[in-house]
Amino acid sequence: MKGVIKWFSKERGYGFILGEDNKNYFVHIKDIEGLDIPKEKDIVEFEITETEKGAQAINVKIIEKNTEKNTDPLVVCENCNKKMVPRVISVDGVLIKSVCPYCGSTYKDFRGEKDLTILIIFGSILFLLFSLIFIVAITS
Ligand SMILES: [Zn+2]
Repeated sequence: MKGVIKWFSKERGYGFILGEDNKNYFVHIKDIEGLDIPKEKDIVEFEITETEKGAQAINVKIIEKNTEKNTDPLVVCENCNKKMVPRVISVDGVLIKSVCPYCGSTYKDFRGEKDLTILIIFGSILFLLFSLIFIVAITS
């Protein structure tokens, strides 16, 4: 029978196939033929075996991979227009930014909000310090 992968978890080692008969079939990773890990919407061909827990898919062959582009990690650099995987730069485990590996221009800056927080804290400290100096100046 043919079917489509409804979902499959590589971590858990199993998933479900929606068969041509509109029934769900449990599939275990050991019953997948070949080395490919099935992904959602892949089309498969399989045989059915009855187990204590119900119908299960065995001898599962992936016959057509889902070709939707959402698995493509490449993005286009706005600066040099090359397709690239942004390189993440972090300092002491804190993400700073991601850059284009070709031209080095910033793709995403993760510091924005944090900078603002630091600015507000720093500003408050400066204000307190000046208030203190002012009080000391007028009282002496
Ligand atoms: Zn670039």
